[in-house]
Amino acid sequence: MDCIFCKIANKEMDSEIVYEDDNFIAFKDISPRAPIHVLIVPKKHIVSVNHLKEEHKELIGSMFLVAQKVVEQLGIRDKGYKLAFNVGKDGGQIVDHLHLHVLGGWKMKQEMDVQKMP
Ligand code: 5GP
Ligand code: ZN
Repeated sequence: MDCIFCKIANKEMDSEIVYEDDNFIAFKDISPRAPIHVLIVPKKHIVSVNHLKEEHKELIGSMFLVAQKVVEQLGIRDKGYKLAFNVGKDGGQIVDHLHLHVLGGWKMKQEMDVQKMP
């Protein structure tokens, strides 16, 4: 399948991986919109939040537990961060493979206020 995130998950394409387990891969966004910008991606190809089904319940639950591990590892757990899913064209979704944006690392509140959501 011609999907960038499937290729990254299958290691057919390079990325800066920060976390990996059987079901997920997390890597640095190529065009970061925050000092720390990581994408958490299920290895299974699911297009978007709109395409979630009953059978994905457990996977989606564990996606948030992966987010906990990633923010802990990146040292932003206690400072705070944003998690975002873009959905569809108007939601700014460019890559049609479900992904959770993890954004953080701002030094000051003002710096964060001027950041555009991805
Ligand atoms: P979306 O706009 O679909 O929610 O987010 C897709 C994200 O994937 C964007 O922030 C974009 O910078 C990132 N991205 C697109 N292509 C690549 C790539 O080849 N490698 C990495 N690491 N990130 C990518
Ligand atoms: Zn895919």
